[in-house]
Amino acid sequence: MAADECNIRVVARFRPLNESEERAGSKSVVKFPTDQDETVLITGKVYIFDKVFPPAATQEKVYNEAAKEIVKDVLSGYNGTIFAYGQTSSGKTHTMEGVMGSDGQQGIIPRIVQDIFNHIYTLDANLQFQIKISYFEIYLDKIRDLLDVSKTNLAVHEDKNRVPYVKGVTERFVSSPDEVFEIMDEGKNNRHIAVTNMNEHSSRSHSVFLIHVKQENVENEKKLTGKLYLVDLAGSEKVSKTGAEGQVLDEAKNINKSLSALGNVISALADGTKSHVPYRDSKLTRILQESLGGNARTTIIICCSPASYNESETKSTLEFGKRAK
Ligand code: ADP
Ligand code: MG
Repeated sequence: MAADECNIRVVARFRPLNESEERAGSKSVVKFPTDQDETVLITGKVYIFDKVFPPAATQEKVYNEAAKEIVKDVLSGYNGTIFAYGQTSSGKTHTMEGVMGSDGQQGIIPRIVQDIFNHIYTLDANLQFQIKISYFEIYLDKIRDLLDVSKTNLAVHEDKNRVPYVKGVTERFVSSPDEVFEIMDEGKNNRHIAVTNMNEHSSRSHSVFLIHVKQENVENEKKLTGKLYLVDLAGSEKVSKTGAEGQVLDEAKNINKSLSALGNVISALADGTKSHVPYRDSKLTRILQESLGGNARTTIIICCSPASYNESETKSTLEFGKRAK
């Protein structure tokens, strides 16, 4: 597949300066040309993506322009993945989940869920749908089920078509958006219970929300399946090599390894000329194999702070996004 046919989109989102950055006297170092929305300048260096969202961009705008399209694809039987990548506190969880049940602050996942059901209600009555949800996290390369806390180290297996899947992961059938939102809450609560510091923990693990849509046309028995992975990645910041030891160092090494494995897979896919895509280098990329590249739709949302204090992390985050183009 030629690079320009590759189904990988990369968008960048900048959150507003936060209070502690303002208190510390940090200034915004990013500029957004007003006549177009694909470019960001950071201390003079230009980065171009499929779309750039400045701090004022609303949750609705980000959803409409970065995620909405994938809903149609999944309902047409394609697989897809949306990732949020960035340092801790850059807005990944705000972008993916947002504030549930709020007025307008919901992130991409609840909006996708709502949209999938809205579409289903309007489609041909001959179509029967089956929607399943799984929710798990990958921490220190172990897969932990967020819907069943007794499952702490699930294995990746391959089905008869050699498609990798998480063996034994909980799958919940759902028939309304509210049921999905309850599952999201349940998963988040389970995550809280198992760890002492949720913020720290969530910045060191990848959380994966899977929406699996099966449909059958009862008239002609035609079947379609689409899987959509919604991934809130571990924080991409570099842990200082001198300060970290023990568990923290293990975590840091592990995160580096899995994020660079992801970067390698994405750039091999974007390159398009490489015959080998190194999916097997991490659990995350193995699981996502059928939902990255090929016919699958992939969107990477690069999340950034605008603050001078974070400039070097922001640049390395933007460089990660560039590798996918
Ligand atoms: P991450 O998941 O990358 O660690 P969060 O999504 O938790 O970061 O964001 C850190 C803080 O910044 C949160 O309090 C969040 O509500 C806030 N925040 C992030 N992005 C935005 C945004 N675009 N607009 C307003 N607040 C935001
Ligand atoms: Mg987060």
